[in-house]
Amino acid sequence: MILTVTLNPSVDISYTIPDLRLDTTNRTDQVGKTAGGKGINVTRVIHDLNKAVTATGFIGGHLGEGIVSELNKNGIKTDFLSIEGDTRNCIAILHDGQQTEVLESGPTITDKENAAFLTHFKQAVDYADVITISGSLPKGLEEDYYVKLIQITNDLDKKTVLDTSKSNLSSVLESPFKPTVIKPNIEELSELLGQKVSADPANLKVVLADELFSGIEWIVVSLGGDGAFAKHGDRYYKVSIPNINVVNPVGSGDATVAGIASALEDNLDDISLLKQAMTTGMLNTMERITGHIDINHFDDLFNHVTVSEY
Ligand code: ADP
Repeated sequence: MILTVTLNPSVDISYTIPDLRLDTTNRTDQVGKTAGGKGINVTRVIHDLNKAVTATGFIGGHLGEGIVSELNKNGIKTDFLSIEGDTRNCIAILHDGQQTEVLESGPTITDKENAAFLTHFKQAVDYADVITISGSLPKGLEEDYYVKLIQITNDLDKKTVLDTSKSNLSSVLESPFKPTVIKPNIEELSELLGQKVSADPANLKVVLADELFSGIEWIVVSLGGDGAFAKHGDRYYKVSIPNINVVNPVGSGDATVAGIASALEDNLDDISLLKQAMTTGMLNTMERITGHIDINHFDDLFNHVTVSEY
């Protein structure tokens, strides 16, 4: 079973308002509401791959209950810790071919909830094979909270995929507790290293050899429509993908994480893991719904991904 961690989930609301006007009332009957947050996207894609998955994290209030019931209704198991604060809404307004977003910061986690989740997480990790940790932290948690979670997964000898950025990622890289995989995109890698990183494979090979990444088994740098560049131990791989019809690329990185986690659970070889990671990412771009894939197209895309050692 794969355990996904989403510490600050949301109910994602989309309003389509073709000619949005400011400082007046706008009305719409085109409303979408769905459970969101990077880890929730990962969860849905693992479920779409027909793999067993359980979602954990913090939820609170009726929006939190809504997330649990939506996931459960779709046959996805949940094991969230209930908190006093209210789970957030995130609003996207689609207008004039543009997308304007309002993202609530979400609840503040109390010290008691902070400690309670560590115990809760340890129990959940015990019955998981692979753990994915995605996104940023809610208010109230220390910026090295993911270090604490990874210490627990390491202690229980479980594989972990970490997909986060900025100080949440750098605190893990600086700590002695390492995830099995990180999946930065090129912007996140640039932010981490404090300089613009070019996607040129020769350059990436040098960058990934940096001491900063020592102890991390897999680094998969996803490159959007240009595929990926990866390092596994001492081996480097350039991954090329076919041209596809992109409908909505949001959440592709999360779908890639789902593909990686599922490949780790199945102990796939390096090439198959990378091909699967690219396939789930691409399948996500072909769907209107964020964090969803149609597995019927899996084999066709998988067979068009090429991986070469670099
Ligand atoms: P993130 O969402 O984290 O920024 P990427 O944009 O790199 O991640 O996307 C992850 C993966 O999804 C890519 O490696 C690729 O397989 C697929 N993907 C994303 N965007 C495109 C695209 N425009 N065309 C084809 N595949 C894409």
